[in-house]
Amino acid sequence: MDRGVVLVTGGSRGIGASVARAAAAAGWAVCLTYHDNAAAAATVVADIEAAGGVAAAVRADIASEADVLAAFAAAERLGPLTGLVANAGIVDMKSRVDELSVERLERVLAVNVLGTIICCREAVKRLSTRHGGSGGAIVLVSSAASRLGGAGEYVDYAASKGAVDTLGIGLAREVAGESIRVNVVRPGKIDTEIHASGGQPDRVARLIPLLPLGRAGQADEVAAAILWLLGEEASYCIGSILDVTGGR
Ligand code: NAP
Repeated sequence: MDRGVVLVTGGSRGIGASVARAAAAAGWAVCLTYHDNAAAAATVVADIEAAGGVAAAVRADIASEADVLAAFAAAERLGPLTGLVANAGIVDMKSRVDELSVERLERVLAVNVLGTIICCREAVKRLSTRHGGSGGAIVLVSSAASRLGGAGEYVDYAASKGAVDTLGIGLAREVAGESIRVNVVRPGKIDTEIHASGGQPDRVARLIPLLPLGRAGQADEVAAAILWLLGEEASYCIGSILDVTGGR
C-alpha cells in the first residue's frame, strides 16, 4: 500500500525508531531524522529496507530552522508528504526549578517546543489544501508529564510538553478544515534510553511501583497508538490527546 511519505523526527532510537519501522510496514515511505547517532539511524533504515520498505535518514537538530527545512526537503525526495510524527524531544538532568540554568531552559524549550512548532509549520505548508496540498496527518508526541508536572525531576520538560498538548489542540482546530488531522500521544514511563540521557538509567525500574499495570511501556506500544492516529482509521479524531501510560 502506498501511503505517501511520513517524516518522523527523532526516528533513530526509542519511540521514533518503533514508529519508523511500523510506518514502513504499514506502507509509508519513511524519512527519519536523528541528532547524533548516525549508526542507529542507519540501522533503522537498513531494517526497513530489508523488510521491503522505503526509508531515508537525515541529520537534523529540530531546534534549527535550517535543519528542519533540510529534513522536509529530504522527505519530499522520497515522494509526496502525507504525515509528520513530531517525536524528537529531550530531558535534562534531575533538577528543581530553583536550580535551572537559562542555558538549559533555552535548550529544552528550543527542542521540545520551538522545534516542534517549526516542524508543524513546515508540515502544514505542504499538507494543507489551503496551500495546494492534498491533506494528511500530524501526530505530536507529548508526555504524561504535561499533566503530572515533573516535580523534583524536570518541571521545565513537563511544561514544554504542556505546550505540545496546547499546540496539538490549537493546530488541530486551525487546520481541520484543510484536510489535516492533528492529534497528540502522551506516553507514560516507556523503556527507552531517554532516562539515561537525563542521568537516571534506573528511572523506569524505580517508578514501576507507581504504575497501575505494574510494568513500563514498550516503544512499540506507543508506536501502535501513533500509527493509529496517523492513519485513516482515526478519521474523526481531531485534537485528541491519547494517553499511553499503563493507567497512570
Ligand atoms: P530517546 O530514546 O532518547 O530518543 C530520542 C530521539 O530523538 C533520538 O532519535 C535522538 O537522535 C533524537 N533527538 C534528540 N535530540 C534531538 C534534536 N535536538 N533534534 C532532533 N532529534 C533529536 O527518546 P524516547 O524515549 O524515544 O522519546 C521520544 C519522545 O517521546 C520524546 O518527545 C519524549 O519526550 C517522549 N516521551 C518519552 C517517554 C519515555 O518514557 N521514554 C515518556 C513520555 C514522553 P539520536 O539517536 O541521534 O540521539
